Amino acid sequence: MARDIKEIISRMTLEEKAGMCSGLDFWHTKGVGRLGIPSIMVADGPHGLRKQAAISDHLGLNKSVPATCFPAGATLACSWDKSLIQKVGVALGEECQAEDVSIILGPAANIKRSPLCGRNFEYFSEDPYLSSEMAANHIKGVQSQGVGTSLKHFVVNNQEHRRLSVDAVVDERTLREIYLASFETAVKQSKPWTVMCAYNKVNGEYCSENEYILISILKEEWGHEGFVMSDWGAVNERVDGLEAGLELEMPSSNGLSDKKIVEAVKNRRLPENVLDKAVERLLKVIFKAEDNKKQNSVYDKEAHHKLARKVARECMVLLKNEENILPLKKEGQIAVIGAFVKTPRYQGGGSSHINPTKLDNVLDEIKLSAGSNCKVSYSQGFSLTEDDTYENLLQEAKKAALNSQKVVIFAGLPDSYESEGYDRTHMRIPENQIKLIQEISKVQENIVVVLSNGSPIEMPWQDKVKGILEGYIGGQAAGGAIADLLFGTFSPCGKLAETFPKKLSDNPSYLNFPGEGDSVEYKEGLFVGYRYYDKKEQSTLFPFGHGLSYTSFKYSDIILDKKEMDDNENLKVQVKIKNTGGVIGKEIVQLYVADIESTVIRPIKELKAFEKVQLKSGEEKIITFNLKKRAFAYYNVEVKDWHVESGDFEILVGSSSRDIRIKEKLHVKSTRVIKKKFSRNSTLGDIMSDPNGEKMAEGLIKSIFGEEEISRDDLGMDMSMMYKDFVLHSMISYSGNKFTQKMMESLLEKLNIGE
Ligand code: BGC
Repeated sequence: MARDIKEIISRMTLEEKAGMCSGLDFWHTKGVGRLGIPSIMVADGPHGLRKQAAISDHLGLNKSVPATCFPAGATLACSWDKSLIQKVGVALGEECQAEDVSIILGPAANIKRSPLCGRNFEYFSEDPYLSSEMAANHIKGVQSQGVGTSLKHFVVNNQEHRRLSVDAVVDERTLREIYLASFETAVKQSKPWTVMCAYNKVNGEYCSENEYILISILKEEWGHEGFVMSDWGAVNERVDGLEAGLELEMPSSNGLSDKKIVEAVKNRRLPENVLDKAVERLLKVIFKAEDNKKQNSVYDKEAHHKLARKVARECMVLLKNEENILPLKKEGQIAVIGAFVKTPRYQGGGSSHINPTKLDNVLDEIKLSAGSNCKVSYSQGFSLTEDDTYENLLQEAKKAALNSQKVVIFAGLPDSYESEGYDRTHMRIPENQIKLIQEISKVQENIVVVLSNGSPIEMPWQDKVKGILEGYIGGQAAGGAIADLLFGTFSPCGKLAETFPKKLSDNPSYLNFPGEGDSVEYKEGLFVGYRYYDKKEQSTLFPFGHGLSYTSFKYSDIILDKKEMDDNENLKVQVKIKNTGGVIGKEIVQLYVADIESTVIRPIKELKAFEKVQLKSGEEKIITFNLKKRAFAYYNVEVKDWHVESGDFEILVGSSSRDIRIKEKLHVKSTRVIKKKFSRNSTLGDIMSDPNGEKMAEGLIKSIFGEEEISRDDLGMDMSMMYKDFVLHSMISYSGNKFTQKMMESLLEKLNIGE
């Protein structure tokens, strides 16, 4: 319905306008009946709908209406499947319509800086490209149903420890290349109706009143046209927030903030047009939500459960499969062990906690898949409520293992080990589970471990088992999905969206996580996840992008459509992938770009494209990727823009970050010359690297030190290396008056011409 929003605003009282800028209650915006402005409902998110119809809270304490619990973000990202995540979004949108929810609070695109972050299970990846692609497609799906999203938590919210007060101190280039980039594509491409600002500060300023982040970057640079809402209780000074681009405070401030805004306008502390602009953004989204409501909407619970099973199956990652222990044969005796079998860990704790429409029983699903020729026993093995080993549980499990041909142990992190609101302090699973795996391995060599966890764990027992299936947090249909994969009804096709380090101290954030007092310094800079492990040449437990299949794939025939290009041109890359194994399967083809000739510090390689492809046995397909300037660029803080440095690059295509199968080189030429500003403190090396300065600096060195001196090789030193670090003004004293102050000034003038 067409409305003149500006006209409506002109009819609103100051109090009504101020009132629009905070919630009515926990989950609703305020309406203004006399002007036809409706109140709309928002609800969590992200991987299922958490609509609280009765008592409200933002910590997952009180029950919500039944909804499909899809795999959590950490799991979803391992699908690397854009269309699949869009389908999840569509289903979420349908459920919102049916429940009269206008905006679902998600997706959550924060970077996994440390494996310890309590909320990693909600986040997608350690890599900003993958994370933003996943978020973008989630948003596309939900919004295609006329329901809004709230991309969260913007930004640099990478820990739970002191999450409401911590100041994340991060350098500009890292902020751009890692933490903002994780949101950028999602905002630009998918246009989320709203963005939720994070609790924390970034470089000294709360996100809720950070003008640089909310206005300069989000609204002006990225073109976000919706509104920004606060995380629940994230507002510090309401009027400052409004000026900095925070339109909606959530939940209700019980009138307090409304009063502050009214007062600020009255005493001219806040220009009224700032308030008007905020209300305009709010009303645009509120009316859009109203206009897109589908009356009497329903959704098919069974179909959504089926989708949840398919999604879970496409996300789970086969980490290890020695001697092809998987898929399990449908014969003999299988011992299924572990308390998670009866009490599955299929979702995380906190505001994303969902009341599922139904819940798969993995034991039933295993029995169903195993068929009548295969006997399946169950034993609990360990307690989930205590970490101590109970001898009776252990002995019972050992006996079952001894009497079987194969054992499947369900292990992982109990609920209390990771949750919103606090971080982990270590990466271990409980002692009683470690002991169980070790003890079982003494009586049985055919062990498969199925893991339920929202973030990486250490695996000191890794070499005691033949198979490891990383089930992550698989949602309400995880049980069926696990059975599908264990027995080979489908081949595993997920790959890790994060690195599993061997031990916590290998992680780059280890020395600075979770910070000191209210400050956490991101001293590892750009080197998050595989960017660090690659650069340090450090081995990992399982690398970023890793995941096995029941079939195999061959990569060949990489073709670049050009070998030289300007940075404003696009590059087309083609690769042939063939299924060389015996069963149908899906491969996630990953493309990384390496800047092999760079004067700035850069990661060894960075993910810049990927594609998931399904191939029957023997089938082959050509995959095409298109790369734009950004795939080669870094963020240049001097010019405040993405910049490509002229030089050679490598296109690496592979099956994981540590399994590059094929590569090709090309030369990219920058179309932008960044003119350096030279001063008396510039080094001769820097001057030499400038096309204008090369001859000048060489001439200067020769005239001061003489040809002979420069080429002396009897000193055991490389003189040219030494000269490079001399600064220009030092040449005045070294030259014994040959080079004067005046000469230096005229040289600088020539060098800086064209500035
Ligand atoms: C969480 C958000 C959530 C909100 C509402 C906050 O504590 O950080 O992710 O959307 O509560 O429940």
